[in-house]
Amino acid sequence: MEIKAVLLLSGGLDSILAGRLLLEQGIAVEALNFTSPFCNCTPKNFGCSAAQQAANQLGIPVKIKACGEAYLEIMKHPRFGRGSGMNACLDCRVHLFARAKEYMAEIGASFVATGEVLGERPMSQRRDAMHIIERESGLEGFIVRPLSAQHFKPSIPEVQGWVDRSRLLAFQGRGRAPQIQLAEQFNIHDYPCPAGGCLLTDKEFSLKFRELLEHQPDFKLPDARLLKYGRHFRLPGGAKVIVGRNENENHSLQQLAGEKDSLLSPDGIPGPTVLVHGTLRPGELEQAKQILIAYLKGAKNEVWIIQAAEERGILNSLFAVDGIARSMEKALAINPKDGNAQHVLGVLYRKAPGWPLSRGDMKKSLEYARAAVADKPDVVLHHLGLAETLVAMGQKEEAKMILQKCIELPGPADFQPETKLDREKARSLLATLK
Ligand code: SF4
Repeated sequence: MEIKAVLLLSGGLDSILAGRLLLEQGIAVEALNFTSPFCNCTPKNFGCSAAQQAANQLGIPVKIKACGEAYLEIMKHPRFGRGSGMNACLDCRVHLFARAKEYMAEIGASFVATGEVLGERPMSQRRDAMHIIERESGLEGFIVRPLSAQHFKPSIPEVQGWVDRSRLLAFQGRGRAPQIQLAEQFNIHDYPCPAGGCLLTDKEFSLKFRELLEHQPDFKLPDARLLKYGRHFRLPGGAKVIVGRNENENHSLQQLAGEKDSLLSPDGIPGPTVLVHGTLRPGELEQAKQILIAYLKGAKNEVWIIQAAEERGILNSLFAVDGIARSMEKALAINPKDGNAQHVLGVLYRKAPGWPLSRGDMKKSLEYARAAVADKPDVVLHHLGLAETLVAMGQKEEAKMILQKCIELPGPADFQPETKLDREKARSLLATLK
């Protein structure tokens, strides 16, 4: 009679080895993997690629199931408490093992196997916790842990002789050396680092989860999926503003936006995607836009942003000017000498209309332009900015000297195409002053 097992396969080394040990005994192994909004390796609508790869490596089929709303409710209100973050490992394992039991019946398997190692994980792999999980999931006696079996009383499959207990191991504790050695023996070299996994153990993610639970106790999976991406801001009316931190996150936010969500992104200039989740009160759309503008920053993009803003004439918009200025002031709060931010402010105060329309101010422009040159004297653009402000203030003689310097400066090695353009601009401007 063929003995069949359901292997809970995370894709990590332990579960790969557990599967391999059973396969060595001629047991038919079928893998089961669960994806959740808290896996840090699972993009939306994709199975767990680590589990798929591991199953391919073992040459076994894998069933990938999503954790779903029921799982989320359990993680919101766990019975057995939480670990160092919002991870409710016992409840999580009880739920997943119970579902593995259902799958076991579905495919006619005789038991469930896992890669668990006694004492490896502080919350879910303590002896008492493992007993609770076994009992509460309804799998008492039907869980085989090939890596650690010798530390437990024989399971029913071992007693029945479906599994040869003498070929099961006695790994224990957090050290990884025995697993790595066994992987070598089995010629297994391709497995993910054990540090990956569950975001609920992550401090920053846990704060976002806790905040969501407090503000929106009835939140659902689409809300939970958003926790993985971006910086989160709660507006006074309860809506959330989520700012992408990089291109991947911008893309993910665009994909995850629901029908009632709004997406904002800067018009024609590089910057974050902002997802507005929830209902906005009057005036709050403006706040969301201001948050977006505050993140129109990135040391490398600052100069580009102001140039693009100039080209598009948006420096006449009070909205844009204030946002860019705030972004640069934030950069200066972090690094008071930041030459790029100083330059941007120099241009901005020169180009923007003066009071009462906007914050244009030539004196400030000159201060910032000089500070930019002082911080990065090798950047031709900064000298050019200073010369342009001096010209605008009627100080032509000093402007001429600086423009001559622009023409002579070699410029930073990694900015040669930009330097060439700035030098040409300096030459043209100088020609108008002679
Ligand atoms: S770390 Fe996360 S996935 Fe793992 S048992 Fe705990 S809650 Fe579940």
